[in-house]
Amino acid sequence: MPLKTPVQYVDSLRELKIRAYVNGERVDSVADHPAIAPHINTVAKTYELAHAPEHRDVMTVESHMTGERVHRYTHIFQSADDLVKKIQMLRLLGQTTGTCFQRCVGLDALNALYAITYDIDQGEGSDYHQRFRAYLAQVQKADLMLAGAMTDPKGHRALRPSQQEDPDQFVRVVERREDGVVIRGAKLHNTGGINSHGILVMPGTGLKEEERDYAVACAVPADAAGVLFIFGRQSNDSRKLEGGCDIGNPRFGVVGGEAMVVFDDVFVPNERVFMNGETGYAATLVNYFATWHRANYGGCKGGNADVLIGATAKMTKVLGTERNAVVRDKLIEMIHMNETTYASAIGASAMGYPLLCGAYMVEPMMANTVKQNITRNVYEIGRVSHDLSGGFLATMPGEKSFDNPEIARFVEKYHQANPEYETRERVKLGRYIENMTSVTTMVEAIHGAGSPQAQRIVMLGLAEIDKKIAMADQVIDGDDDVEGLPLPERRVDK
Ligand code: SF4
Ligand code: FE
Repeated sequence: MPLKTPVQYVDSLRELKIRAYVNGERVDSVADHPAIAPHINTVAKTYELAHAPEHRDVMTVESHMTGERVHRYTHIFQSADDLVKKIQMLRLLGQTTGTCFQRCVGLDALNALYAITYDIDQGEGSDYHQRFRAYLAQVQKADLMLAGAMTDPKGHRALRPSQQEDPDQFVRVVERREDGVVIRGAKLHNTGGINSHGILVMPGTGLKEEERDYAVACAVPADAAGVLFIFGRQSNDSRKLEGGCDIGNPRFGVVGGEAMVVFDDVFVPNERVFMNGETGYAATLVNYFATWHRANYGGCKGGNADVLIGATAKMTKVLGTERNAVVRDKLIEMIHMNETTYASAIGASAMGYPLLCGAYMVEPMMANTVKQNITRNVYEIGRVSHDLSGGFLATMPGEKSFDNPEIARFVEKYHQANPEYETRERVKLGRYIENMTSVTTMVEAIHGAGSPQAQRIVMLGLAEIDKKIAMADQVIDGDDDVEGLPLPERRVDK
């Protein structure tokens, strides 16, 4: 069965010669660097749970190409049930790790490339789809961790890719050879790429005909010549180097370990190129990817919020406030917001429909609504958690204060609340809540899978406002009254 174990995943990363930089310094082995380790550990969980008999149905699935049982993270959605199970998988992983487990970007990119290569072949008579299927078979067999790369630096925001003073502000083909292409540029906010086996590069915007060089989609090994990762800083990240509970989520980290990935003239052989100049399909590819990914947030953030709600509820016990009616009502508010987004994600999935290639797409209005709600609810859930946890979240002493005999007894004594709980318990919970509601988490929720306005534009487009106006006209002025019913006289002339 092609399912990697967690140890095999980490060993396979060690075998790659990934060129990575953390805080300006070259990293020898990404698998052994403390700044990256928690994020690797989170991905390792996705491999681990696939071997658990109780999660088999959610974490693994029969490949539609080989009939073999593969990881759901390498699968092409074949039904609405597949889409629902994906959301269930995300909630499970969110509950297990309390953070971002990174593999969903690659999964949605695989599906988007599967669909777009089919579309391009239908329209242009090319053979990208077979090429992509051959690649996908290898991904499934090796159970690869893939990162998707879509967001270009974008340079001057008022200018199109071809109008930029620096043409590299969007990833582009700088050379076309007989056997492949050479790409140059960078992708930002890249989740999980630094601890992945490979990157799926896609255009990040719709393109005009003359922007042919920017219409490139391809798969690049994480350690290909010319690829380098520059790891981003997060709030409090130097605490990872100290160890202990001040990190907040010591085992799994905060969000996904994002990096800038640079393509410094990277050669990509033809068999890994899935779009090369077909500008008319770039917007559809972006749309496929974004729609699938936006529905995800009801699952992953749902699982993360379950952990945050649990930590907050336990904090109220530690403080001794858990029986207060107002406190209980605020917990209900957190639950309400969380279940609303989860329900929308399940709804978007249950209403999924097949694309021409056979892959199932989520219902787009609901998928965009999920993400729109996430841009608010994650903040709001965090706000209520802060409210219930108290000012201590922002002022508590570092964990090492408990180790200094001169002050430890004071720290213990004056942070003690409900005597049933040790003071350290309160600190651990506080640190978790502090870090998991930090700017890193919040910004990911607002901008991940597209900034709020991107969803609002799609929602307005899909809403068919004219049809709603017609509905209002019909209800108010309609002439479909059934004779003989006791209707009041209409006094306003039509
Ligand atoms: Fe997956 Fe959520 Fe992380 Fe996106 S933010 S990669 S959907 S866990
Ligand atoms: Fe994300």
